[in-house]
Amino acid sequence: MALHVLTHEAMHINQEHDEVKADCQAFQRNHKMAEYLGVAPPLAAQSAILIHHFRNMHHPYYSAQCEPGRVLDEKLRDAIWRGPDG
Ligand SMILES: [Zn+2]
Repeated sequence: MALHVLTHEAMHINQEHDEVKADCQAFQRNHKMAEYLGVAPPLAAQSAILIHHFRNMHHPYYSAQCEPGRVLDEKLRDAIWRGPDG
């Protein structure tokens, strides 16, 4: 979760001031942050998937729209929730 907090804060630096949006942007980039910090790509992806999968639906930044194909999906090519067929 420390990884997710770091990525979330980076989204604020990137001028996203909406907490729910910043949080979902972070879920879509946690694997990249981990890789930048030296985590091997497969482990970075696995961690990012778990962080998203086990997120707390009672958290104030939770949104059911933060899922593949829903409103907050940025359709990033390498998002961890993107399967092999995109
Ligand atoms: Zn925030």
